[in-house]
Order: sequence, then structure tokens, then C-alpha cells
Amino acid sequence: MRLNGNVKETDWLCGHWKLKRRSNQASPRSRGAVIPSTGSASVSRPRVKCHVYVDFDGTIASFDTTDLLLERFAAPAWRRIEEDWKAGLIGSRECLVRQIDLVRATPAELDDFIGDIDIDPHFPRFVELCLEQGHDVTVVSDGLDRTVNAVLKRHELDLAFYANRLEWRGQDRWRLRFPHARSDCKALSGNCKCQFTEGARLDLRLVVGDGRSDFCIARRADLVLAKNALLPHCVEAGLPVRAFENFGEAADVLAGWLDGHDAITPPSMVQRADD
Ligand SMILES: [Mg+2]
Repeated sequence: MRLNGNVKETDWLCGHWKLKRRSNQASPRSRGAVIPSTGSASVSRPRVKCHVYVDFDGTIASFDTTDLLLERFAAPAWRRIEEDWKAGLIGSRECLVRQIDLVRATPAELDDFIGDIDIDPHFPRFVELCLEQGHDVTVVSDGLDRTVNAVLKRHELDLAFYANRLEWRGQDRWRLRFPHARSDCKALSGNCKCQFTEGARLDLRLVVGDGRSDFCIARRADLVLAKNALLPHCVEAGLPVRAFENFGEAADVLAGWLDGHDAITPPSMVQRADD
């Protein structure tokens, strides 16, 4: 694998690369094609299209906003339900249904709370860079659509997003709907994130996330940028992963990765082990 100055081979936590060329097609290198010099990690010269899937809670938002909301408005029993989910005893769908049932907040109280949610200050610039280069950015969240929508809007981020639907039942009661759940979802997630990769088979896939709700989609990524629980999970599973702390770092990694990668394997010649 060729890596440029921004991405040293030793920086990769896992050398297990999941891309492979189709056996009946030779690489540009083996055909004697000229591989252009990449020089520095320029982000202005993309040669492949990338689809970036970004988690919301703990990734775009500085904290898990659903946990914060439950901490503020739900009866303490929400924590026991959370532990069952973390232990793998229940899926996130069941976990969230039971937790949201414990919430007592008026719409005004909820929206006040959502209005105080911070995001990674580097995220808007990361999105701008991706869109300038023709890459797609999709927010995939197993959290609440009311939160994701309001936070993205407040930061003028006009992005496609998929999340669970929070519905007001009147007074201070709420329920959750799952428009993106799938009956064949192995993780029993509220939002089955894997489904959103299906329309992007020829794009390179970058998954950016931090936790359990990203475990499945990470297996479909060509590269994962991970922090918190997602990082050791990817390392143990042998997935191609880089640690990151903020979207400033994520922009550098993306630039270096594409610069080093696309000179070797054009997207039309990419086939993933999992596809
Ligand atoms: Mg998360």
C-alpha cells in the first residue's frame, strides 16, 4: 500500500487491508501506467469518489446526546436498560423504546435542551472540504431525529441524515418510531446503518464513529476513523482503522488516505471482501 507523508504506514493500527483487485484486471502499476506523484497531502485533487458515513452522538456532537437527554429527563431506570444493551442482551431498538418511555419533558423543554448541544468545531469545515471535492457525506444516527435535525440546522449543515423518529404523544410523553429498522439487522438496531452503504458500491467508504451503533457499518468500510469503544472493536476485528480525536484530524487523514490510495486502485477496480 502506498501512503503519503500524512499517513505513515506505522500510523495504521491495522495492516489488514480489505480491498482487492478483480483477478482478471491488472493494476495500473502492473500495466506500466504512470502513477502521478502525489507530493504533499493536497485535498484539492480528488481522483476517486468517497462516501463518508458519519455517526452523530459522540462523533459530530461532542457527547452522546441521547444519554444526556435521558440523564436530564428520564427516570433512573434508563441506566439499567442501557447496561443490558451494552452487554448485548437487547438490541438498540428495544433499548430505546423502553428508555424513551421513561422520558418526561414538554416539547419546549426538549428543544431548550437540544439548543445547548455543541458539536465538534472542525466538523463544518470537514463537510465543506468533502463537498468541494465531490464526496458524499451522510449522517447515520441511532439517536433521535429531532436532535440531529435541530443541531445540523443550527450549524447550517444541509446534509442527508437518517435517525430514529421521535414523536410527541402530548403533554410530556414521547415515543420512538424506527423508519430505518430492518428485520434482518443482526444487531437489532433502531437504525440499521449498514443499509445506507448499499447504493455506494463503487465509492470508497469512510465510516467515522465512536461506539457500538457503528460496529456493523464499520465492517463495510474501506477505512474507519474511530474513537472510544469503536476503536478497540475495529482493532480486535482486524478492520482498517485510524484513531482520531476531532474532525480537523479526520480531514487530514481523509486527504492522505485518498492521495495514497487512488493512485493505486481506481474505484472501478475495487472490490471489497465483504461485498
Ligand atoms: Mg455514537
